[in-house]
Amino acid sequence: MRTPIIAGNWKMNKNPQQTQEFLDAIKGKLPETSKVESVIAAPAVDLNALTWFSKDEPLKTAAQNSYWEDEGAFTGETSPKVLSEMGIDYVVIGHSERRQYFHETDEDINKKAHAIFKNRMTPIICCGETLEQREAGDTNSWVAGQVEAALKGLTAEQVAQTVIAYEPIWAIGTGKTASADQAQEVCGHIRETVKKLYNEGTAEAVRIQYGGSVKPGNVKELMAKKDIDGGLVGGASLSADDFLALVNYQ
Ligand code: PGA
Repeated sequence: MRTPIIAGNWKMNKNPQQTQEFLDAIKGKLPETSKVESVIAAPAVDLNALTWFSKDEPLKTAAQNSYWEDEGAFTGETSPKVLSEMGIDYVVIGHSERRQYFHETDEDINKKAHAIFKNRMTPIICCGETLEQREAGDTNSWVAGQVEAALKGLTAEQVAQTVIAYEPIWAIGTGKTASADQAQEVCGHIRETVKKLYNEGTAEAVRIQYGGSVKPGNVKELMAKKDIDGGLVGGASLSADDFLALVNYQ
């Protein structure tokens, strides 16, 4: 059985004080991690507060990005080694905003995935198609290509631990959610892709999230789908009440 994983992606929002206020509001109200893993992916400047909080509370912590080298002359980058030393659990990589605005390539994302495992953390690897690609009928092949490129060279054991987030670009921040059936179709195809690249056991173990305008009102229907194991939630995760409703969807 795969443990559901609901991750809030704050993007470039909240300062340390707002982070603390959010954490005070969710204290004592998160489900046990054996039931649902609750994750917050915060800006690097807010991660310290999250790791302190997670010592006593069932919250898993995530960075929104990292570099692939551990240290050196890489001005402005964040070291995966330091994130790991801080106690960070997950790193989101390949978000469409990073691909679009910061020109991250599939090859960069693959290097980051390797660096994250080397540092004993787990990647949340994002993939997803544009509206044009969907309308042209290219969704499945595009997403499968992104997944294959991101996983290149990882072992079956590593892939079994990986989280893959399917986020159709046209549904991010637009209020336009993919229907639960549309989301299931692509998440199922991602699992098939992992099965083809690795084996059935790996495909059954990998956790697949849907992201794109997930909110308390639609989380249940999405989570009921057989290949959807979680959500990656932007806008709705900024409110402590909404985040609590999401992680307590059961
Ligand atoms: P959204 O963002 O929930 O605001 O659509 C999702 C994401 O980009 O991870």
